[in-house]
Amino acid sequence: MSNSKEFLQSVNEVFDQSARLLSLPDDLANKIKLANSIYKVSFGVKLRNKLHTFTGFRCVHSEHKEPVKGGIRYSIDSSQEEVEALAALMSYKCSLMDLPFGGSKGALIINPNDWKKDELERITRRFTNELAKRNLIHPSQNVPAPDMGTDENVMAWISDEYRRLNPTDIDAQACVTGKPISMGGVHGRIEATGRGVFYAIQEFLRYEKDYKRIGFTGELENKRIVIQGFGNVGYHAASLLAEYGAKIITVIEKEGSVVDENGIDIEKLNNYFIRKKTLQGYNGFTKTRNRFLTKDCDILVPAATESVIHKDNAKNIKAKLIVEAGNGPVTAEADRILIRKGVIIIPDFYANAGGVVVSYFEWVKNLSKMRYGLMQEREDEKKQKQLVNALELMTGKNFPDDLKTDVVKGSTEIDLVRSGLEEKMREGYKNIHEKYHSDKKIKDFRTAAMVIAIKKIADAYRYMGI
Ligand code: NAD
Repeated sequence: MSNSKEFLQSVNEVFDQSARLLSLPDDLANKIKLANSIYKVSFGVKLRNKLHTFTGFRCVHSEHKEPVKGGIRYSIDSSQEEVEALAALMSYKCSLMDLPFGGSKGALIINPNDWKKDELERITRRFTNELAKRNLIHPSQNVPAPDMGTDENVMAWISDEYRRLNPTDIDAQACVTGKPISMGGVHGRIEATGRGVFYAIQEFLRYEKDYKRIGFTGELENKRIVIQGFGNVGYHAASLLAEYGAKIITVIEKEGSVVDENGIDIEKLNNYFIRKKTLQGYNGFTKTRNRFLTKDCDILVPAATESVIHKDNAKNIKAKLIVEAGNGPVTAEADRILIRKGVIIIPDFYANAGGVVVSYFEWVKNLSKMRYGLMQEREDEKKQKQLVNALELMTGKNFPDDLKTDVVKGSTEIDLVRSGLEEKMREGYKNIHEKYHSDKKIKDFRTAAMVIAIKKIADAYRYMGI
């Protein structure tokens, strides 16, 4: 079976099992599980004196809330099944995290590295045209975001193209998230998914009842971590984990890995990767890749692509905790093997929800036409200054200079975005933790999260009438 077929089957298997636990009637379960619609387009762009045909998809999984939300991926390996699985995960993710969106996902079958920047822009604008004229990009209907192979530049082209097609739409900027700040983006979106992964690990380590199950202590310091995929999500997660004392002992990439048992200098590695576009030649580089997924470590963070942990390597996994930073890295069969081995898995549709949480903040910012913190920043600063002055007056002592700036400063957009993201990740973890520990029939965190997500979607359909 192809990876993407197995991926879709794995997502649906968890759904079926969770729907049974909720005793959902079959017709309603089926309605939720199956994608509402999938649009496939083949369009031509004349480049390098030749007409090139590109194939793309946009799947709308569940419209119980609108707009639907989900990234656009540029990858040569994408397929209809992959997009359907990813769109379904978006519905469950938005529901679990209490975001006002249904689920969607898109892909263009392309290797972005095969094209120059101006060529990629023309291809993206043409794809945007195809999707926008069917409301598959639209501020109140369908709002894409970055995913594998796409970045804020691609989002900027999408946003600009949509605005040109809809010059009188006052909300046009809200048609896509993950934009550069100058195009209506929000501070903190680029790092959001990786930062969310970091918060997810931090939350796990705050609940003794959970970390003791795998013999962990509650500290992040010196935890030995293997990361697969050093792109947007993998880098930002690794950077924060290292900053807070964890040791990133291996980074696995497409052409090989970097290993350092004392902990890799993540910023140095990232600068090298940006400059050379490969890890090859870096100190500690080896061509070994997938074998390192089974390397001895405390935490494994797959942040690349789907189905990388499967029935053939699952039994050899040594990590006690797997945090699914990427979508669908563990197949259903591997999931069963790992659970039997006592490994805890923090599931993708919670662990990597930071991206869509901050996309939600960006979308609201675009609709309100006002940056976060504008109304509070100076007012907070004034109140904090008064408090410091009062403390100095009451004690007769000077407030420590090194603390004063931080205490007095009002909250900026990035402070508020990070605070909102942390709050959402905390809330999400607490809900999964409570569900898991309150129902003996629920055997793992993935099922607990899915039960929460489906219940809310099912309630929405029940109240609406299907
Ligand atoms: P990216 O394109 O920025 O980075 C992916 C990295 O993984 C690349 O460096 C690539 O070379 C590497 N890679 C790909 N296949 C690999 C393999 N088999 N082995 C080792 N390395 C491999 O993509 P990203 O945005 O970081 O997304 C990574 C994962 O996170 C995807 O599953 C994506 O769906 C998911 N995700 C991303 C976001 C987001 O905001 N970007 C949000 C939620 C989920």
